[in-house]
This record gives sequence, C-alpha cells and structure tokens, in this order.
Amino acid sequence: MLERSPVVATVGLGANLGNPQAALAGAMASIAALEGVRLVAQSALYRSAPIDSSGPDYVNAVVQLQTNLSAPELLAELQTIELGAGRERPYRNAPRTLDLDILLFGDASIQSPSLTVPHPRMWQRAFVLLPLAEIAPALVSTALLDSVKDQALVRLVP
Ligand code: AMP
Repeated sequence: MLERSPVVATVGLGANLGNPQAALAGAMASIAALEGVRLVAQSALYRSAPIDSSGPDYVNAVVQLQTNLSAPELLAELQTIELGAGRERPYRNAPRTLDLDILLFGDASIQSPSLTVPHPRMWQRAFVLLPLAEIAPALVSTALLDSVKDQALVRLVP
C-alpha cells in the first residue's frame, strides 16, 4: 500500500465551559496520542472574551502536528476527542466544553460540506493569531497581528 507523505497540520483549541484549562491540556494529550500523529509544537494557553458566542471567557491554544492522516480522517479524530470531553451542539456557536478546528492542513485548500481549510475565520481572530505566531511566526505577519490588536487576549503563564 502507498504511504501518504506526512503533512504539518495546525489545530485550534478552545473551551469555555467546565474546566477549560484541563479540557485543553487533556485534548493536547489526546491529540499527541493519536495513531499517525506527532505533536510538534504547542502554544501557551490564552484567555479571550467570547466572539459570536456566549458564556464565560474562552481558553484557547494552537498546536502543530505532523500527520499521515487525511484531513477528513483528522477531523473525525478531533470530533471523537470533542465528544469524549462532553461536547454537545445544542445550537450554532453555543458555549462548549471543547472545540477543535483544523486551521491549516499543509498548504491544502479544502472546500467540502464538512471541511473548510484554511479555517475561514482564523485570520480575523486574535485567539488564533497570537498563539499561532508563538509557534509558527512565519505564518503571521505584523500587519495581521496589528489588525486584531483591539481583541483582548491574556496569555496565561503557568
Ligand atoms: P463547531 O461547532 O465550530 O465545532 O463546528 C463543527 C462543524 O464545522 C463540523 O460539522 C465540521 O464538519 C465543520 N467544519 C468545517 N470546517 C472545519 C474545520 N476547518 N475544522 C473543524 N470543523 C470544520
């Protein structure tokens, strides 16, 4: 069987219900433990006010991983991890115990009913761009960072 060549994927993590910091730490460990996935970088945790959502502040982070999985396979694994964290989808943009988004998948451009990559809103969100700049500075220009400077974000130092 032909082996797929590995791709570097970037995944955004967010949570604002329950214990968000524990949910994100658990999700990072679950992602790192996936077969066909190697975690290569993880940002610090950041606290942000909800945008297009409600409830308590979010805790966010971004990770980069190298994977042999396809993008739909990775999405399925991430959704299993979300469900394991008690994720429910009562309505669009509802508060959530864990949200995992594929931000980038190599240089792939994907538009399918279940997957849009690059993630359509990633370049407008400080809670994506600041953690991403921490682990992949070449992907985030100072102009982009400047464009989100009004969105309050606090880096949580352990
Ligand atoms: P959410 O409520 O934010 O977790 O959205 C989940 C839905 O978004 C799922 O049905 C996915 O199929 C869809 N989706 C589209 N693009 C992406 C992406 N890049 N990463 C994760 N989910 C995505």
